[in-house]
Amino acid sequence: MKDIEGKHFEVVVMGSGPAGLTAAIYAARADLKPIVFEGPEPGGQLMTTTDVENYPGFPDGVMGPAMMDQFRKQAERFGADCRYGMVTEVDIDNHPFTLNIDDSVKITTDALIVSTGASAKWLGIESETRLRGYGVSACATCDGAFFRDEHVIVVGGGDTAMEEADFLTKFASKVSVVHRREEFRASKAMQHRVLNNPKVEVLWNSELNEVLGDKVVKGVKIYNNEKDEVTTLEDVTGVFIAIGHKPNTDLFKGKLEMDDVGYLETDGKSTATNVEGVFACGDAMDAIYRQAITAAGTGCKAAMDAERWLGVREIGDPEEVPAEG
Ligand code: NAP
Repeated sequence: MKDIEGKHFEVVVMGSGPAGLTAAIYAARADLKPIVFEGPEPGGQLMTTTDVENYPGFPDGVMGPAMMDQFRKQAERFGADCRYGMVTEVDIDNHPFTLNIDDSVKITTDALIVSTGASAKWLGIESETRLRGYGVSACATCDGAFFRDEHVIVVGGGDTAMEEADFLTKFASKVSVVHRREEFRASKAMQHRVLNNPKVEVLWNSELNEVLGDKVVKGVKIYNNEKDEVTTLEDVTGVFIAIGHKPNTDLFKGKLEMDDVGYLETDGKSTATNVEGVFACGDAMDAIYRQAITAAGTGCKAAMDAERWLGVREIGDPEEVPAEG
């Protein structure tokens, strides 16, 4: 990393999930010579997914890590410099922006693409971690189809849990929503859909105590915090944790506009943030869709927005930077 100490770049991409690497592909093809700092989880959330069956272009599905490897190779083919490293400090108050990499190397950049993603929240129990990818998932859209005619549980009571539960009823024979309180946090409309679905049962005042099974999920233990009672559901084969996501945007608190949860705000249909020259894409700015394909789409937009912004700056009239593509 020392080789880049003090260097100046046209575009820096933070993060290496589908958004960051798509931004890198487009920026590299626009001859902006982007450098990508891959972050703490190179490849992003797809690295913890097994089969990806909903990404267009892969009729037989593709393994998450293999797909991210292809993304990175494609970006490198056009000259993107992808590096294992983290942006640990940013100064975006002054232009060019100054970034500290791994607390050891300082560089500057004209444009910054923030594609730091979001991380699913987990309960933190041992059996959940051990069986992640083997029946325990945080993404029904990705993994729901593996549970055809089986009994699955969804943990959580927000909109994500409702959406996951509703989606899972397309495949599962029964979906039990396990919620720690006696009312949902989710919007009324989403609740309504779930509560009226005959395949869904709700276990109120309930907490997931343990996921059973050595190699795959073979049941769960549920604690009822009202009755102080533990029940075993032996036929459960799938566990979906839907207790929220946390966008990885702490570095930008007080610097970029974000919502209460931390999702970055962008201007209209563009990826422009409130700081000129900083663009946000992927799950760091998307609380709703959070799919690899939508993240890749916004990554493409961020690179095109950055390219346009840099182009207009070069000819000396930043006022004319178009807000939308
Ligand atoms: P959320 O609204 O924060 O809900 C998280 C849920 O998980 C809550 O019910 C919470 O319980 C529960 N929970 C949190 N930590 C827990 C723990 N350690 N153990 C057990 N349960 C726990 O998160 P979200 O559902 O992901 O939604 C995030 C944002 O995205 C929201 O603004 C939501 O409206 C939005 N969203 C919108 C859509 C849509 O419009 N289609 C879809 C998905 C998400 P408590 O209720 O007891 O706190």
